[in-house]
Amino acid sequence: MVFVSSIRRAIQQRSRLFLPTPVHLPRESKSNSQSLLQEAAIVHSVEHGFPQLLPLGVRVLTKLKKVIRFEMNAVGGQELSLPAIGRRNMWEASDRWNLMHNELFKFKDHNEEYCLSPTHEEAITKLVSSVCKSVARSNYPLLLYQITWKYRNEPNYRHGLLRTKEFLMKDLYSFHRSEECAQQVYEQVCDAYERIFQKLELKCFKVPADSGLMGGSLNHEFLGISPVGEDTVLTCSTCGRGSLTNKPQCEHTEKVEQRAIELGHCFLLGDRYTKAFDAIEGSSDVTEDKKPLIMGCYGIGLTRLMAAAVEILTPRGSSDIRWPRRIVPYQVAILPPKKGSPEEANGNKQTLGRLLQLDNNEWFVDDRTELTIGYRLKDCQKMGVPIVITFGKRATKQNLCEVIDVYNNRTEYLSYEDTLKFIQDYYSVFC
Ligand SMILES: [Zn+2]
Repeated sequence: MVFVSSIRRAIQQRSRLFLPTPVHLPRESKSNSQSLLQEAAIVHSVEHGFPQLLPLGVRVLTKLKKVIRFEMNAVGGQELSLPAIGRRNMWEASDRWNLMHNELFKFKDHNEEYCLSPTHEEAITKLVSSVCKSVARSNYPLLLYQITWKYRNEPNYRHGLLRTKEFLMKDLYSFHRSEECAQQVYEQVCDAYERIFQKLELKCFKVPADSGLMGGSLNHEFLGISPVGEDTVLTCSTCGRGSLTNKPQCEHTEKVEQRAIELGHCFLLGDRYTKAFDAIEGSSDVTEDKKPLIMGCYGIGLTRLMAAAVEILTPRGSSDIRWPRRIVPYQVAILPPKKGSPEEANGNKQTLGRLLQLDNNEWFVDDRTELTIGYRLKDCQKMGVPIVITFGKRATKQNLCEVIDVYNNRTEYLSYEDTLKFIQDYYSVFC
Protein backbone atom coordinates (compact mmCIF):
# COMPACT_ATOMS: atom_id res chain seq x y z
CA MET A 1 0.00 0.00 0.00
CA VAL A 2 2.97 2.27 0.40
CA PHE A 3 3.05 2.72 -3.38
CA VAL A 4 -0.60 3.44 -3.75
CA SER A 5 -0.70 6.04 -1.03
CA SER A 6 1.87 8.14 -2.87
CA ILE A 7 -0.29 8.42 -5.99
CA ARG A 8 -1.66 11.84 -6.76
CA ARG A 9 -5.03 11.99 -8.44
CA ALA A 10 -3.29 13.15 -11.62
CA ILE A 11 -2.09 9.69 -12.59
CA GLN A 12 -4.78 7.27 -13.67
CA GLN A 13 -5.10 4.14 -11.56
CA ARG A 14 -5.82 0.92 -13.42
CA SER A 15 -8.23 -0.16 -10.70
CA ARG A 16 -10.32 2.95 -11.42
CA LEU A 17 -10.42 2.51 -15.21
CA PHE A 18 -13.76 1.43 -16.62
CA LEU A 19 -12.68 -1.76 -18.38
CA PRO A 20 -15.66 -4.09 -18.02
CA THR A 21 -15.32 -7.77 -18.88
CA PRO A 22 -16.64 -8.17 -22.43
CA VAL A 23 -20.14 -9.62 -22.69
CA HIS A 24 -20.97 -9.34 -26.38
CA LEU A 25 -17.96 -11.10 -27.90
CA PRO A 26 -18.62 -11.96 -31.54
CA ARG A 27 -18.94 -15.73 -31.96
CA GLU A 28 -17.26 -16.07 -35.29
CA SER A 29 -15.66 -12.99 -36.69
CA LYS A 30 -13.38 -12.90 -39.69
CA SER A 31 -12.27 -9.55 -38.43
CA ASN A 32 -9.27 -9.44 -36.14
CA SER A 33 -10.04 -5.95 -34.93
CA GLN A 34 -13.59 -6.73 -33.85
CA SER A 35 -12.60 -9.37 -31.29
CA LEU A 36 -9.39 -7.60 -30.22
CA LEU A 37 -11.13 -4.27 -29.57
CA GLN A 38 -13.95 -5.92 -27.65
CA GLU A 39 -11.68 -8.21 -25.63
CA ALA A 40 -9.58 -5.22 -24.56
CA ALA A 41 -12.72 -3.25 -23.55
CA ILE A 42 -12.09 -0.53 -26.10
CA VAL A 43 -15.37 -1.18 -27.86
CA HIS A 44 -18.28 -2.59 -25.85
CA SER A 45 -20.27 -3.85 -28.80
CA VAL A 46 -21.30 -2.99 -32.33
CA GLU A 47 -24.72 -4.62 -32.09
CA HIS A 48 -26.93 -3.99 -35.12
CA GLY A 49 -24.20 -1.78 -36.58
CA PHE A 50 -24.32 0.82 -33.79
CA PRO A 51 -21.00 1.09 -31.95
CA GLN A 52 -20.72 1.55 -28.20
CA LEU A 53 -17.27 2.89 -27.45
CA LEU A 54 -15.77 2.60 -23.99
CA PRO A 55 -13.46 5.25 -22.45
CA LEU A 56 -10.30 3.74 -23.99
CA GLY A 57 -11.95 3.84 -27.41
CA VAL A 58 -12.82 7.50 -26.99
CA ARG A 59 -9.20 8.23 -26.04
CA VAL A 60 -8.10 6.61 -29.31
CA LEU A 61 -10.61 8.63 -31.34
CA THR A 62 -9.59 11.86 -29.61
CA LYS A 63 -5.99 11.29 -30.69
CA LEU A 64 -7.01 10.29 -34.18
CA LYS A 65 -8.99 13.54 -34.46
CA LYS A 66 -5.87 15.45 -33.44
CA VAL A 67 -3.76 13.84 -36.19
CA ILE A 68 -6.44 14.53 -38.81
CA ARG A 69 -7.21 18.09 -37.65
CA PHE A 70 -3.54 18.98 -37.82
CA GLU A 71 -3.30 17.99 -41.49
CA MET A 72 -6.67 19.48 -42.46
CA ASN A 73 -5.76 22.81 -40.85
CA ALA A 74 -2.37 22.66 -42.59
CA VAL A 75 -4.02 22.69 -46.03
CA GLY A 76 -6.22 25.63 -45.00
CA GLY A 77 -9.26 23.74 -43.71
CA GLN A 78 -11.51 25.44 -41.16
CA GLU A 79 -13.60 23.30 -38.85
CA LEU A 80 -17.33 23.80 -38.44
CA SER A 81 -20.25 21.63 -37.39
CA LEU A 82 -23.45 20.84 -39.31
CA PRO A 83 -26.62 19.18 -38.01
CA ALA A 84 -27.00 15.40 -38.18
CA ILE A 85 -30.63 15.78 -39.26
CA GLY A 86 -31.47 16.94 -42.78
CA ARG A 87 -34.86 17.96 -44.15
CA ARG A 88 -36.43 16.13 -47.05
CA ASN A 89 -36.67 19.17 -49.35
CA MET A 90 -32.92 19.79 -49.02
CA TRP A 91 -32.15 16.20 -50.01
CA GLU A 92 -34.63 16.44 -52.88
CA ALA A 93 -32.81 19.43 -54.33
CA SER A 94 -29.84 17.17 -55.15
CA ASP A 95 -32.14 14.26 -56.03
CA ARG A 96 -30.46 12.09 -53.42
CA TRP A 97 -33.62 11.69 -51.29
CA ASN A 98 -34.58 9.13 -53.96
CA LEU A 99 -31.15 8.07 -55.24
CA MET A 100 -29.95 7.13 -51.76
CA HIS A 101 -33.36 5.88 -50.66
CA ASN A 102 -32.10 2.56 -49.32
CA GLU A 103 -29.17 4.03 -47.43
CA LEU A 104 -30.95 6.90 -45.68
CA PHE A 105 -32.49 6.59 -42.24
CA LYS A 106 -35.72 8.50 -42.83
CA PHE A 107 -38.31 9.60 -40.32
CA LYS A 108 -41.38 11.74 -40.06
CA ASP A 109 -42.27 14.08 -37.23
CA HIS A 110 -45.20 16.54 -37.10
CA ASN A 111 -45.74 15.98 -40.82
CA GLU A 112 -42.18 16.98 -41.68
CA GLU A 113 -39.88 14.40 -43.25
CA TYR A 114 -36.22 14.14 -42.34
CA CYS A 115 -33.20 11.90 -42.68
CA LEU A 116 -30.12 11.25 -40.57
CA SER A 117 -27.28 12.53 -42.72
CA PRO A 118 -24.77 10.02 -44.11
CA THR A 119 -22.79 12.90 -45.65
CA HIS A 120 -23.17 16.68 -45.93
CA GLU A 121 -22.74 17.84 -49.54
CA GLU A 122 -26.31 19.18 -49.49
CA ALA A 123 -26.07 20.92 -46.11
CA ILE A 124 -22.68 22.56 -46.72
CA THR A 125 -23.56 23.70 -50.24
CA LYS A 126 -26.83 25.15 -49.00
CA LEU A 127 -24.93 27.01 -46.30
CA VAL A 128 -22.37 28.38 -48.76
CA SER A 129 -25.14 29.27 -51.21
CA SER A 130 -26.95 31.31 -48.56
CA VAL A 131 -23.89 33.50 -48.01
CA CYS A 132 -21.95 33.28 -51.28
CA LYS A 133 -22.91 36.77 -52.40
CA SER A 134 -21.17 38.23 -49.38
CA VAL A 135 -18.15 35.91 -49.45
CA ALA A 136 -15.04 37.87 -50.43
CA ARG A 137 -12.77 36.62 -53.21
CA SER A 138 -10.03 36.31 -50.63
CA ASN A 139 -12.04 33.50 -48.99
CA TYR A 140 -11.46 31.22 -51.98
CA PRO A 141 -10.48 28.47 -52.13
CA LEU A 142 -12.86 27.89 -49.22
CA LEU A 143 -12.12 24.68 -47.29
CA LEU A 144 -14.58 23.68 -44.58
CA TYR A 145 -14.58 20.44 -42.62
CA GLN A 146 -16.22 18.75 -39.68
CA ILE A 147 -15.71 15.59 -37.62
CA THR A 148 -19.19 14.34 -36.76
CA TRP A 149 -21.28 11.19 -36.43
CA LYS A 150 -22.93 10.06 -39.65
CA TYR A 151 -25.67 7.52 -40.35
CA ARG A 152 -26.14 5.05 -43.16
CA ASN A 153 -28.79 2.34 -43.20
CA GLU A 154 -26.23 -0.25 -44.18
CA PRO A 155 -27.79 -3.72 -44.51
CA ASN A 156 -24.33 -5.32 -44.73
CA TYR A 157 -22.97 -3.94 -41.49
CA ARG A 158 -20.15 -6.22 -40.31
CA HIS A 159 -16.62 -6.65 -39.00
CA GLY A 160 -17.17 -4.53 -35.91
CA LEU A 161 -16.20 -0.92 -36.57
CA LEU A 162 -15.21 -1.56 -40.18
CA ARG A 163 -18.75 -1.30 -41.54
CA THR A 164 -21.37 0.25 -39.28
CA LYS A 165 -24.64 2.14 -39.51
CA GLU A 166 -23.36 4.93 -37.29
CA PHE A 167 -19.81 6.15 -37.79
CA LEU A 168 -17.55 9.08 -36.97
CA MET A 169 -16.32 10.78 -40.10
CA LYS A 170 -14.17 13.71 -41.09
CA ASP A 171 -15.67 15.34 -44.16
CA LEU A 172 -13.94 18.24 -45.85
CA TYR A 173 -15.60 20.27 -48.62
CA SER A 174 -13.75 22.68 -50.86
CA PHE A 175 -15.26 25.48 -52.98
CA HIS A 176 -13.41 27.09 -55.86
CA ARG A 177 -13.79 29.80 -58.46
CA SER A 178 -11.97 27.75 -61.10
CA GLU A 179 -11.41 24.15 -62.14
CA GLU A 180 -7.63 24.69 -61.94
CA CYS A 181 -7.84 25.80 -58.34
CA ALA A 182 -10.03 22.80 -57.51
CA GLN A 183 -7.46 20.46 -59.11
CA GLN A 184 -4.63 22.06 -57.17
CA VAL A 185 -6.38 21.76 -53.82
CA TYR A 186 -7.42 18.21 -54.70
CA GLU A 187 -3.74 17.28 -55.00
CA GLN A 188 -2.91 19.08 -51.75
CA VAL A 189 -5.61 17.26 -49.81
CA CYS A 190 -4.54 13.91 -51.31
CA ASP A 191 -1.00 14.67 -50.11
CA ALA A 192 -2.37 15.52 -46.66
CA TYR A 193 -4.15 12.15 -46.63
CA GLU A 194 -0.88 10.39 -47.42
CA ARG A 195 0.76 12.23 -44.51
CA ILE A 196 -2.06 11.19 -42.17
CA PHE A 197 -1.66 7.51 -43.05
CA GLN A 198 2.10 7.80 -42.82
CA LYS A 199 1.82 9.28 -39.32
CA LEU A 200 -0.41 6.34 -38.45
CA GLU A 201 2.29 3.93 -39.70
CA LEU A 202 -0.12 2.59 -42.34
CA LYS A 203 1.08 1.72 -45.81
CA CYS A 204 -1.61 2.77 -48.23
CA PHE A 205 -2.31 2.78 -51.95
CA LYS A 206 -3.92 5.74 -53.67
CA VAL A 207 -6.01 4.37 -56.52
CA PRO A 208 -8.38 5.97 -59.06
CA ALA A 209 -11.95 4.83 -58.36
CA ASP A 210 -15.59 5.10 -59.42
CA SER A 211 -17.72 8.03 -58.33
CA GLY A 212 -20.89 6.11 -57.57
CA LEU A 213 -23.74 8.25 -56.29
CA MET A 214 -21.46 11.16 -55.36
CA GLY A 215 -21.09 12.25 -58.97
CA GLY A 216 -18.11 14.22 -60.23
CA SER A 217 -15.15 13.80 -62.52
CA LEU A 218 -12.12 12.60 -60.59
CA ASN A 219 -11.77 10.55 -57.45
CA HIS A 220 -9.28 8.42 -55.57
CA GLU A 221 -9.57 5.84 -52.84
CA PHE A 222 -6.86 5.29 -50.25
CA LEU A 223 -6.58 1.58 -49.53
CA GLY A 224 -4.83 -0.39 -46.80
CA ILE A 225 -4.06 -4.07 -47.41
CA SER A 226 -6.03 -6.47 -45.21
CA PRO A 227 -7.71 -9.85 -45.77
CA VAL A 228 -11.03 -8.55 -44.36
CA GLY A 229 -11.10 -5.64 -46.83
CA GLU A 230 -13.99 -5.41 -49.27
CA ASP A 231 -12.02 -3.95 -52.16
CA THR A 232 -9.57 -5.81 -54.35
CA VAL A 233 -6.37 -4.01 -55.21
CA LEU A 234 -3.70 -4.99 -57.72
CA THR A 235 -0.27 -3.99 -56.48
CA CYS A 236 2.51 -3.73 -59.05
CA SER A 237 5.71 -5.62 -58.20
CA THR A 238 7.71 -3.31 -60.49
CA CYS A 239 6.65 0.25 -59.64
CA GLY A 240 4.81 -0.39 -56.37
CA ARG A 241 1.63 1.38 -57.47
CA GLY A 242 -1.79 0.00 -56.67
CA SER A 243 -4.95 -0.01 -58.74
CA LEU A 244 -8.47 -1.32 -58.66
CA THR A 245 -8.90 -4.31 -60.97
CA ASN A 246 -10.67 -2.31 -63.68
CA LYS A 247 -8.41 0.76 -63.57
CA PRO A 248 -4.76 -0.12 -64.23
CA GLN A 249 -2.29 2.64 -63.29
CA CYS A 250 0.77 1.31 -65.11
CA GLU A 251 1.84 -0.86 -68.05
CA HIS A 252 3.66 -3.48 -66.00
CA THR A 253 2.31 -7.00 -66.07
CA GLU A 254 3.51 -8.54 -62.80
CA LYS A 255 0.80 -7.76 -60.29
CA VAL A 256 -0.38 -9.20 -56.99
CA GLU A 257 -4.07 -9.23 -56.14
CA GLN A 258 -4.89 -8.43 -52.51
CA ARG A 259 -7.90 -7.53 -50.39
CA ALA A 260 -7.95 -3.97 -49.07
CA ILE A 261 -9.89 -1.67 -46.74
CA GLU A 262 -10.90 1.81 -47.88
CA LEU A 263 -9.24 4.28 -45.48
CA GLY A 264 -10.18 7.50 -47.24
CA HIS A 265 -11.81 8.87 -50.37
CA CYS A 266 -11.34 12.11 -52.33
CA PHE A 267 -13.72 13.45 -54.99
CA LEU A 268 -13.68 16.33 -57.43
CA LEU A 269 -17.40 17.01 -57.71
CA GLY A 270 -17.47 19.79 -60.29
CA ASP A 271 -20.72 21.77 -60.02
CA ARG A 272 -23.12 18.88 -59.35
CA TYR A 273 -24.17 20.30 -55.97
CA THR A 274 -23.34 23.99 -56.37
CA LYS A 275 -25.61 24.13 -59.42
CA ALA A 276 -28.45 22.42 -57.58
CA PHE A 277 -28.20 24.85 -54.66
CA ASP A 278 -27.24 27.91 -56.68
CA ALA A 279 -23.91 28.40 -54.93
CA ILE A 280 -22.24 30.89 -57.22
CA GLU A 281 -18.96 32.70 -57.21
CA GLY A 282 -18.49 36.40 -56.85
CA SER A 283 -19.27 39.18 -54.48
CA SER A 284 -21.50 42.17 -55.14
CA ASP A 285 -18.58 44.14 -56.59
CA VAL A 286 -18.35 41.83 -59.63
CA THR A 287 -20.87 42.30 -62.41
CA GLU A 288 -19.80 39.58 -64.88
CA ASP A 289 -21.86 36.38 -65.33
CA LYS A 290 -21.97 34.29 -62.20
CA LYS A 291 -20.83 30.68 -62.51
CA PRO A 292 -21.53 27.91 -60.02
CA LEU A 293 -18.58 27.24 -57.72
CA ILE A 294 -16.46 24.15 -58.35
CA MET A 295 -16.48 21.73 -55.46
CA GLY A 296 -14.44 18.88 -53.98
CA CYS A 297 -15.16 16.58 -51.05
CA TYR A 298 -12.83 14.45 -48.96
CA GLY A 299 -13.77 11.84 -46.37
CA ILE A 300 -12.06 9.74 -43.72
CA GLY A 301 -14.11 7.47 -41.47
CA LEU A 302 -12.46 7.67 -38.05
CA THR A 303 -14.21 4.72 -36.43
CA ARG A 304 -13.36 2.60 -39.45
CA LEU A 305 -9.77 3.87 -39.58
CA MET A 306 -9.29 3.02 -35.91
CA ALA A 307 -10.36 -0.60 -36.56
CA ALA A 308 -8.52 -0.79 -39.90
CA ALA A 309 -5.28 0.28 -38.21
CA VAL A 310 -5.62 -2.54 -35.67
CA GLU A 311 -6.53 -4.92 -38.49
CA ILE A 312 -3.48 -3.96 -40.55
CA LEU A 313 -0.85 -3.59 -37.80
CA THR A 314 -1.72 -6.52 -35.51
CA PRO A 315 -0.19 -9.79 -36.72
CA ARG A 316 -2.80 -12.48 -37.42
CA GLY A 317 -3.26 -14.81 -34.48
CA SER A 318 -1.84 -12.34 -31.96
CA SER A 319 -3.99 -11.46 -28.96
CA ASP A 320 -2.06 -8.22 -28.34
CA ILE A 321 -3.30 -5.11 -30.13
CA ARG A 322 -0.79 -3.14 -32.19
CA TRP A 323 -1.83 0.51 -32.56
CA PRO A 324 -0.34 3.28 -34.59
CA ARG A 325 1.67 4.71 -31.69
CA ARG A 326 0.16 8.18 -32.04
CA ILE A 327 -3.29 6.90 -31.12
CA VAL A 328 -2.73 4.29 -28.39
CA PRO A 329 -5.15 4.68 -25.44
CA TYR A 330 -2.21 5.07 -23.02
CA GLN A 331 1.46 5.41 -23.92
CA VAL A 332 2.99 4.19 -20.65
CA ALA A 333 1.96 1.81 -17.87
CA ILE A 334 3.75 1.55 -14.54
CA LEU A 335 3.60 -1.78 -12.73
CA PRO A 336 4.64 -1.62 -9.06
CA PRO A 337 5.87 -4.93 -7.55
CA LYS A 338 3.41 -7.49 -6.24
CA LYS A 339 2.27 -6.99 -2.68
CA GLY A 340 4.36 -9.01 -0.24
CA SER A 341 7.08 -9.81 -2.80
CA PRO A 342 10.82 -9.35 -2.08
CA GLU A 343 10.80 -6.70 -4.85
CA GLU A 344 8.24 -4.71 -2.91
CA ALA A 345 10.26 -5.00 0.30
CA ASN A 346 13.64 -4.16 -1.26
CA GLY A 347 12.51 -2.07 -4.23
CA ASN A 348 13.42 1.49 -5.00
CA LYS A 349 10.35 3.15 -3.54
CA GLN A 350 11.80 6.57 -4.18
CA THR A 351 12.08 6.04 -7.95
CA LEU A 352 8.62 4.56 -8.16
CA GLY A 353 7.26 7.42 -6.10
CA ARG A 354 8.87 9.98 -8.41
CA LEU A 355 7.44 8.27 -11.52
CA LEU A 356 3.99 8.33 -10.01
CA GLN A 357 4.30 12.02 -9.22
CA LEU A 358 4.73 12.90 -12.89
CA ASP A 359 1.63 14.71 -13.98
CA ASN A 360 0.89 12.85 -17.17
CA ASN A 361 -2.36 12.12 -18.90
CA GLU A 362 -0.64 9.47 -21.03
CA TRP A 363 0.37 7.18 -18.15
CA PHE A 364 -1.47 4.89 -15.83
CA VAL A 365 -0.32 2.82 -12.88
CA ASP A 366 -1.56 -0.74 -12.62
CA ASP A 367 -2.17 -0.58 -8.90
CA ARG A 368 -3.65 -4.08 -8.68
CA THR A 369 -0.64 -5.18 -6.66
CA GLU A 370 -2.39 -8.36 -5.54
CA LEU A 371 -1.61 -9.61 -9.07
CA THR A 372 1.81 -10.67 -10.36
CA ILE A 373 3.80 -8.37 -12.62
CA GLY A 374 3.57 -11.01 -15.36
CA TYR A 375 -0.22 -11.05 -15.29
CA ARG A 376 -0.50 -7.28 -15.36
CA LEU A 377 2.09 -7.05 -18.14
CA LYS A 378 -0.02 -9.42 -20.27
CA ASP A 379 -3.00 -7.18 -19.64
CA CYS A 380 -1.07 -4.12 -20.85
CA GLN A 381 0.09 -5.97 -23.96
CA LYS A 382 -3.46 -7.00 -24.78
CA MET A 383 -4.52 -3.34 -24.66
CA GLY A 384 -1.56 -2.34 -26.82
CA VAL A 385 0.36 -0.18 -24.31
CA PRO A 386 3.74 0.42 -26.02
CA ILE A 387 5.90 1.13 -22.95
CA VAL A 388 5.71 -0.64 -19.60
CA ILE A 389 7.87 0.33 -16.63
CA THR A 390 8.22 -2.26 -13.94
CA PHE A 391 10.47 -3.45 -11.12
CA GLY A 392 11.37 -7.14 -11.39
CA LYS A 393 14.15 -9.05 -9.62
CA ARG A 394 17.05 -7.79 -11.71
CA ALA A 395 15.92 -4.17 -11.74
CA THR A 396 15.41 -4.22 -7.98
CA LYS A 397 18.85 -5.71 -7.38
CA GLN A 398 20.53 -3.02 -9.48
CA ASN A 399 18.27 -0.25 -8.23
CA LEU A 400 17.02 0.45 -11.76
CA CYS A 401 13.74 0.61 -13.68
CA GLU A 402 12.86 -2.20 -16.05
CA VAL A 403 11.64 -0.44 -19.20
CA ILE A 404 9.84 -2.72 -21.64
CA ASP A 405 9.49 -1.51 -25.22
CA VAL A 406 6.53 -3.77 -25.96
CA TYR A 407 6.26 -3.14 -29.72
CA ASN A 408 9.96 -3.87 -30.29
CA ASN A 409 10.06 -6.72 -27.79
CA ARG A 410 13.04 -5.17 -25.99
CA THR A 411 13.81 -4.63 -22.32
CA GLU A 412 16.22 -2.09 -20.90
CA TYR A 413 17.38 -1.52 -17.33
CA LEU A 414 17.64 2.21 -16.78
CA SER A 415 18.12 4.75 -14.03
CA TYR A 416 15.27 7.13 -13.26
CA GLU A 417 16.86 9.87 -15.40
CA ASP A 418 17.54 7.52 -18.32
CA THR A 419 13.99 6.19 -18.10
CA LEU A 420 12.64 9.71 -18.52
CA LYS A 421 15.03 10.29 -21.41
CA PHE A 422 13.95 7.04 -23.05
CA ILE A 423 10.33 8.12 -22.86
CA GLN A 424 11.11 11.65 -24.00
CA ASP A 425 12.87 10.26 -27.09
CA TYR A 426 9.88 8.04 -27.78
CA TYR A 427 7.49 10.98 -27.36
CA SER A 428 9.49 13.15 -29.74
CA VAL A 429 8.69 10.66 -32.50
CA PHE A 430 5.17 9.53 -31.67
CA CYS A 431 3.41 12.20 -29.62
ZN1 LIG B 1 3.80 -0.78 -62.30
